[in-house]
Amino acid sequence: MNISFEGKRALVTGAGKGIGRATALALANCGAKVTSVTRTQSDLDSLVQECPSIIPVCVDLADWGATEAALKNVGPIDLLVNNAAHANLQPFLEVTPEQFDQSFNVNVKAVLHVSQIVAAGMKGRGSGGAIVNVSSQASQCALRNHTVYCASKGALDMLTKVMALELGAHQIRVNSVNPTVVMTEMGRSGWSDPEKAKTMTSRIPLGRFAEVDEVVNSILFLLSDKSSMTNGVTLPVDGGFLAC
Ligand code: NAP
Repeated sequence: MNISFEGKRALVTGAGKGIGRATALALANCGAKVTSVTRTQSDLDSLVQECPSIIPVCVDLADWGATEAALKNVGPIDLLVNNAAHANLQPFLEVTPEQFDQSFNVNVKAVLHVSQIVAAGMKGRGSGGAIVNVSSQASQCALRNHTVYCASKGALDMLTKVMALELGAHQIRVNSVNPTVVMTEMGRSGWSDPEKAKTMTSRIPLGRFAEVDEVVNSILFLLSDKSSMTNGVTLPVDGGFLAC
């Protein structure tokens, strides 16, 4: 199945590393004009070096005012990937208000905010569009020490559905991908220990973690016209974990 985003303008958050970076590069390879948003300038520098057509935007998405200022002149966007997220694991009884706020500010509030900015433009132009939120299997299954992360991704799944409901009338589709563990920097921080990894892979029917490209391919599908009647879904990319 060939997917072309020729003539489309895309914005990807958290595009400095991991899944976001690979998504930005894949979208550019498929012909999209890509704006990449992240908070570490050196990641943007190396990304632009790798793909000179990418437009870099450096901002901490946890900061509402700074995000507003940074995206004010971003221009028309047809495809949005809300990928940036914060993961900080701790036992339930040790969760602090600061950890809660940091995670919800990035994982939920920034998704709402960036989507408002982008979707308002889509609605104003009457051009429609597609939005993919990067959620997690953790939105639908309790994982030990993942209180805030699970809660934030659960909130993100419901945000996806309400956005799909309200934006559908403007031909803006909103879906999420919900991956299992992927060995990015975030994945390594939680699952590098082989014994711990085994407790997860043993619960995944396919018996392994997901590769970055497997998540990217699902994102591209949901952004593309190949999924033109798919709206409001939370698509597991989890080897069957959530089916059990
Ligand atoms: P990653 O390798 O840690 O990359 C995350 C990217 O987001 C980094 O470029 C990071 O920048 C950026 N980011 C984080 N907070 C930000 C902020 N406040 N403002 C701007 N940019 C920010 O993570 P990943 O594994 O690719 O995860 C991508 C998405 O997949 C996330 O939504 C995550 O929850 C989801 N996911 C991941 C896994 C997994 O196992 N890896 C599993 C399921 C779902 P800095 O490095 O500069 O902070």
